[in-house]
Amino acid sequence: MVNRKALQENSMDEHGKGVNPAIADETKFKYERILTGDRPTGPLHLGHYTGSLRNRIRLQDKYETFILIADIQALTTNFEHPEMLRENIFLAALDYLSSGIDPKLSTIIVQSMVPEIAELTAFFSMLISINPLRHNPTIKTEAKERGYKELTYGFLGYPVSQAADIAIFKADLVPVGIDQLPHVELARKIIRKFNELYCGKLIEPFALIDKFPRLVGLDGGLKMSKSYGNSINLSDSEGVVKGKIRTALTDKNRIHPTDKGNPYICTIFKYHTAFSSETLIKETEANCKNGKIGCVQCKDNVFGSIKNILEPMYEKRAYYSNNKDEVWDVLYEGTKKARLIAEQTINEAKKSMRIIYGD
Ligand code: SF4
Repeated sequence: MVNRKALQENSMDEHGKGVNPAIADETKFKYERILTGDRPTGPLHLGHYTGSLRNRIRLQDKYETFILIADIQALTTNFEHPEMLRENIFLAALDYLSSGIDPKLSTIIVQSMVPEIAELTAFFSMLISINPLRHNPTIKTEAKERGYKELTYGFLGYPVSQAADIAIFKADLVPVGIDQLPHVELARKIIRKFNELYCGKLIEPFALIDKFPRLVGLDGGLKMSKSYGNSINLSDSEGVVKGKIRTALTDKNRIHPTDKGNPYICTIFKYHTAFSSETLIKETEANCKNGKIGCVQCKDNVFGSIKNILEPMYEKRAYYSNNKDEVWDVLYEGTKKARLIAEQTINEAKKSMRIIYGD
């Protein structure tokens, strides 16, 4: 069997720089199973689409794909409202199925229905001290964005639970944005420590970096987010999408359509780069700079590009919304299949720790 870890770490230059050993290299190595997912905190939006969903739809043809609806992790920031989880799990699944996730290619799993994850999380939590969690850049950023002064044990331990998510399903590839890389690095560290201590055989995962930049919000804010009220949801109707796009922040210095504009500071131009054809992007760039297009027309053009993406989703959404049992069946079946792997992993892990008692 190929030792991918050794191969990958050897791919660093002679100074040990150049290649981060946590980052997957699909051109050189063969990977098998992806683990990806979302916290079900509300409807998915275009930021989710460009940040992960679009990539998952592509990857499901290439890799065995597991998508985890992480309802327990949703409680790290929404613990006061567990009653929202059922509806949000359903909405996440509806967004997946409508946007092109194929349940024949992708296994969709509900986290809390796989209790082995919680068990492995408990074992992993012994292997990491508090400081690396406190200093984890992703945790720090999220805590700052949410204005948290005090961090709960669950919020701080979120990366530990993510490490368990990855390990329990024997995933070797985790598609993430660059800002999530510290989570994968931490997962590798915990898993390596487990294997070294207990002669375990858990799989150390690699991060598959999605290089597409984070989609800005309608208000030009750094991040599209439902909680910031600046998102276009995948479930928004055409009329709602058009109305939201009309409110988007553009180059404020442009008053008249003939004013020369700066597309690089404009939210709408960023949406063009995410959703429009190369030809339309180039035309928009030139026309904006030369004052040859009005912002209203430009917004209508980007609406057309976004509509092309959302339109095929509407029909599937309508079908699954009228056949809710089918959505739940996809979740139950996916979870059942994935749980078989989770049971196997936890038994192997406990065996390596010598904590299987009785017969
Ligand atoms: S013309 Fe388009 S790219 Fe230029 S400022 Fe207006 S909306 Fe933005």
